[in-house]
Amino acid sequence: MAGFFSKLKDGVAKTADKAQLTLEVTKLSSQINGIKKDIDALYTQIGEQVYQAYAQGDLSLAEAEIVRHGQAIGQHQDTITELEAKIRELRNEKTCPDCSTVVAADIRFCSSCGHKFDFTPPPAAVEPGAEAPVEGSQEQVLILEPELEAELASEEERIRADEPCASCGEPVAPGVRYCTHCGHDQQAVE
Ligand SMILES: [Zn+2]
Ligand SMILES: [Zn+2]
Repeated sequence: MAGFFSKLKDGVAKTADKAQLTLEVTKLSSQINGIKKDIDALYTQIGEQVYQAYAQGDLSLAEAEIVRHGQAIGQHQDTITELEAKIRELRNEKTCPDCSTVVAADIRFCSSCGHKFDFTPPPAAVEPGAEAPVEGSQEQVLILEPELEAELASEEERIRADEPCASCGEPVAPGVRYCTHCGHDQQAVE
């Protein structure tokens, strides 16, 4: 499975295929969720050990185990931070300087506060006949585990739930205040 995963990663990097990118992000997200469950289990263990030490009338009995589990939690949190950075990188995102919301790199307006970004147009289209050689772009048949398939379906569901902006018609995700394309306030009374 590891070989399949790295092959998939290569494919994403080279073809920038939207579906594969979504798949890659979904995989990283479910990895993060798994680590969060591990962290919760460690919290529970710390709680039990503190209680047992309390019941024995000496809280210091729990100290060594708290330190050990605390270190493990710290390592897990570092891993989550790395995975989250990887997701931002894959999604090509940027952080709003006004409100710190993480948004897509190619939007003009922050979806949360309406901040206008200095919009850098995407790099000029490659001249005809000068396209970069297409490597590793052969079709890949994706066989998904059922739970991954379900997550992917819910991601697609979310995308389908987008409403067109009242001002420019671009899709706006539910709950988003400002159109990321034109900055129109979705809560504005027409
Ligand atoms: Zn903002
Ligand atoms: Zn708009």
